[in-house]
Order: sequence, then structure tokens, then C-alpha cells
Amino acid sequence: MTSTVLLLPRNGLRRLMALNAGTSGAIKFKHSSADDLMLLSYVKVGEVGYQVPLAPKTHRLNQGDTGVNGLWFQVPVELHCWWYELVRRGDQFCVPRDEFVKRLPGPLTDPGALGYIVLTYARGAAFPPYDVTPIPEFAAWLVTRDGVSGVSVAVEPAEFGTGQLAARWPIDDLAKATVMVVGVGSIGGAAVTALAGYGVGRLLLVDPDRLMWHNLVRHVLPGRHVGHFKVDALREHLSDQRSDTRIVPYRFDVVDDAHEVRGLLSATDIVLCCADGVAPRRVVSHLARRAGKPAVLACVLDDGGIGEIIRLRPYPDHGCLLCRRQALIDDGTFDPEPELEAGYGTGTLHQPMTAVGSDLAIVGDLAAKVTTATVLETAGHYTHRLPGEQLNLALQARRGWPGPYDLGYTGNARWVSTVAPPRDDCPTCGKP
Ligand SMILES: [Zn+2]
Repeated sequence: MTSTVLLLPRNGLRRLMALNAGTSGAIKFKHSSADDLMLLSYVKVGEVGYQVPLAPKTHRLNQGDTGVNGLWFQVPVELHCWWYELVRRGDQFCVPRDEFVKRLPGPLTDPGALGYIVLTYARGAAFPPYDVTPIPEFAAWLVTRDGVSGVSVAVEPAEFGTGQLAARWPIDDLAKATVMVVGVGSIGGAAVTALAGYGVGRLLLVDPDRLMWHNLVRHVLPGRHVGHFKVDALREHLSDQRSDTRIVPYRFDVVDDAHEVRGLLSATDIVLCCADGVAPRRVVSHLARRAGKPAVLACVLDDGGIGEIIRLRPYPDHGCLLCRRQALIDDGTFDPEPELEAGYGTGTLHQPMTAVGSDLAIVGDLAAKVTTATVLETAGHYTHRLPGEQLNLALQARRGWPGPYDLGYTGNARWVSTVAPPRDDCPTCGKP
């Protein structure tokens, strides 16, 4: 059995907590009977009334049925000790109405046949001796002719962003970071979501594509964004959930608009490329190297069988993507890069989809992890060091592939720590 919950937005409670707020006034609620949920939507303090919108603006209850009236009172903490006991015991218990009224600073009107809600504020409940007990500063009551029962409340906290993680997670260094994500398809969309979850402060999204119906089976974006540019839709999608992350969308094609993308790199700490196709990956490798920035490249190979994440760093002894791939060819492994030309499924008629969305999301999440770890390592957090510069993950068992790609069981992961050096004649690593 469920019971009604009353949501209390902080911007409304602040009005009641003001020292000159007086001791009582009118309030209004929005109500959703389907959710058995009420929202404090209006408070009157003295002669002034305030609307109390719930963040985010798109919350369904902001459009809920309105016009449910109630009252608020400032009360002694003792009354909230009663409330705690009533809510703990359940709906069937109530206190006599006249006992309740004795502890209020003003009278109650007749509750009629249906009753009404009273919100009470106990100044001081947040301080000793009550700070170690669950006695809340705000409580709600259903007043009926039969008596007064407790109503569960949920108070909007002052902080619900990544700041809460400050004791356990290096939020400050990530909040300062800017990550460019090139390609926000199924891998990139998952990576962007994860980067925001890690608390990266600014994300520059580069992708010229729109979300179309065939993307929905794998993309993090929901169907209401069909037709929108993916970069814009991701910004909107994440703004409610991860308001600490600023998302800047660019409808650029990294190959055709390489000049514009190059211009963004000076303000970027690291580039994450989740675009499939050989050309975008080579362009990212080239631009990042020339700008002296690290880059992470994520893709799936072999029809979705293998996830691959490569980290490129602009060190004198680290080769670019081309040099790394050439070394594989030279030592007799092979070049997996042409695999990417086929893509891992664009959903067009001539090219069936291969990888499943949740596998692509695993690769996107891991790519975000590698990117975040690189930012943190650079900032001196050595507990975030990675074991190598390339990670291959079997999304499905693949046997008989050469070198690091021989991953016998689903879930096998292999890090490669050796990095091919730059070749003398490399157009990316060589002298400009
Ligand atoms: Zn090179």
C-alpha cells in the first residue's frame, strides 16, 4: 500500500523560513491522483503570494490539477515529534483535532467532508537536540472532521548535483575540464551521458547528424527528439539530469569542417572520437596531435564483436593513429581500421545493423572512463592511472583474430601498454 507524498520545493520553503514570515498563511497544491502525489505550488506570506515552480520546468506536476487549498503554520518542534510517530505507524492513526489546534498559533477552519492539508514549519528542528533524530523542519497533515493524520513529505535538498560526491570523487578537477566529443551516435551518446555523470564541466559536441527513427533502437535519446540534431537533443536531454555540465553543440562534420573544429581545440583538454569511419578518426588523430592534445578513439570492430578504445597522447615517443596501425601491419598482425569503413550499421537498407545498442553503450561508457582517467591523471590523481594505451574488449567471443584482438570469451578485456613510436615520414607526427 502506498501513501500520498507531498513534494516541497526549496524556493517555497525559503519564504516560510524567513524571520519576518509571520506564523501562518494560505498555501496551494498541484495534485496528481494517478501518482498519489502533491506539490506545494503557492505560498502566501503576509500579504504577498508566491508561485512555487518545481525544477525542472518540464516536471509533469507543474501542469497538474491546481486549486487544492491548504494552510501553513509555524509550530513548536514537539508537534513534529507527533508527526514522526504518526507517519511511522501508518495512515490509520490520527490525533484529535482539538489537541492539534492547541499547538497551532491560529485557528483551523472547518475541514468539511474532504478535509485539507496543513503544512507546518518547526523552526529549530534542524538544530540540537533534534539534528540527530529524524524530526523534520517541515511536516504535513491531513485535517479531517475525524482527526489529524500525518502526510509524508519530501523536501527538495539544497544540493543534488555532483557536489554531493566531493568527499569521494575529484569533482573540482573534472568541473574545470573541457572534453570535445566527435560523433554522438550510439557510442558517443552513451559516452556524453557518462562524461556528464563523471562531472566533466564542459562538453563540446561535434556531429552534423539528426536523430532518425532507425537510431532509436540503439541511441540514448528518446523518440521525442526524432528529427532534431543529435548535439542539440543531447544538450536538452541532459540539462535536467546533469545541470552541472555545460553542453555546447556544434553541427560540424569533423572532416568537412576540420578548420572550425581545429579552432575549438585550444580551449579543449582532450578529444573523444566516437565517430565510425576511417576519415573522421584520422582527422581527429591529426588535429589533436597538432594541437598537442590527447585523444581517445572508440569503436567496435568485426560486426560488433570487439570494442576498441585507443588513447593517443602527443608525446615525442607516442605515434599517432596511423603510426600505431602501421606498426600492427609491420609486425604481421593486420590493420583493423578498414573494418570501420563498413561502419557498424547505419541502418540504411544496404547496410544492416550489427552491434546492439547496449554493447555500444558499454564501449561508450568505457571510452568516457578512459577520457576521464586521462584528465585526472594529468591533474595529478595517480589513483586514476590506466594500465595501457589501448583496450580491446570482447563483446562476443572472437577466436583466431591476431594480436590483441584474440579474445577467446565474451567479456575478455586486454590492455596493450606498448605504443608504436612516430614514423619519420608520418604526415601527422612529422615536423609540420
Ligand atoms: Zn604518426
